[in-house]
Amino acid sequence: MRNVLIMGSGCAGLTAAIYAARANLMPLVIRGLEAGGQLTLTTLVENFPGFPKGVQGPELIERMRNQAAEFGAEFMEGHVTRADVSRRPFVIEVGSETFETRTLIVASGASAKMLGLESERKLLGHGVSTCATCDGYFYRGKEVAVVGGGDTAAEEALFLTRYATQVSMIHRRDQLRASKIMQERLFHNEKIKFLWDSVVEDILDVNRGEVTGVKLRNTKTGEESLKSCDGVFMGIGHSPNTALFRGQLEMNEVGYLITHEGSKTNVPGVFAAGDVQDHVYRQAITAAGSGCMAAIDAERFLEAEH
Ligand code: NAP
Repeated sequence: MRNVLIMGSGCAGLTAAIYAARANLMPLVIRGLEAGGQLTLTTLVENFPGFPKGVQGPELIERMRNQAAEFGAEFMEGHVTRADVSRRPFVIEVGSETFETRTLIVASGASAKMLGLESERKLLGHGVSTCATCDGYFYRGKEVAVVGGGDTAAEEALFLTRYATQVSMIHRRDQLRASKIMQERLFHNEKIKFLWDSVVEDILDVNRGEVTGVKLRNTKTGEESLKSCDGVFMGIGHSPNTALFRGQLEMNEVGYLITHEGSKTNVPGVFAAGDVQDHVYRQAITAAGSGCMAAIDAERFLEAEH
């Protein structure tokens, strides 16, 4: 029987692990499918307080993990395949292994949706990015492309105009899905160009290990073209990793867990932290902060039970 089981090993899960471990709760962290979370997909992180010269995303995660381990957190490779929070103790399955736990911290994050291209996967972190706030700064004076036509793509594109000389929005239709106010901002920004009815067929250049452009196909005419750019930002949305909790935990219409009074979910003893419950801020520091909250909430819940 565990006191605290943490699902996910990004900023939120690891911060929860540091706090729970320091409270002598010996948390078990199930690392998950995308171990380390979205920070492992980025390079230099310049906005995490305490690192005036920046820190590499994977290094920051490694440091957090070591810090949690130092205080006695345990880690397990693998991902949760089934979770039953309908009764206590909660039952969590990781493949063939079953755990019982008094409290559960869900920090399974949200995964950026990707196009599914081989070149996209190979160039991720080398010109392909899923986060303008994280990586936009590297494109000062350069040309970038943003894929998508919703509010996420609009936000990414507008943010990138601070740095880039030109931002091309590549959208598969001829109308944006983004809210009217965002559309107006986009249309009034001279740096933003639209490539309508266009899908990305390939991202160049895998051989050089950097982005030099995208190969596009026009969905109406079938015509193929090349658009040169130095970076490609995927803005086609995020999906919270909450499928296991459908019907068990309250979530909004797109699957983000709903929390109240800090990190509490609708099930007493189950807490949520990080991007799995936050589609607004999505920052490393906010995820870490909510991980801290979840660990403190779990600790108080356990104390109240005794
Ligand atoms: P979204 O509204 O689902 O938009 C996704 C966009 O990506 C759509 O334009 C979609 O094209 C395109 N897309 C999806 N899959 C694609 C694919 N495989 N290939 C090419 N294009 C693809 O997602 P979102 O923009 O992340 O927004 C999610 C929710 O959060 C929305 O309710 C949004 O309003 C909200 N949000 C709000 C703000 C804000 O208010 N500041 C910021 C971010 C998000 P189609 O249009 O053709 O479907």
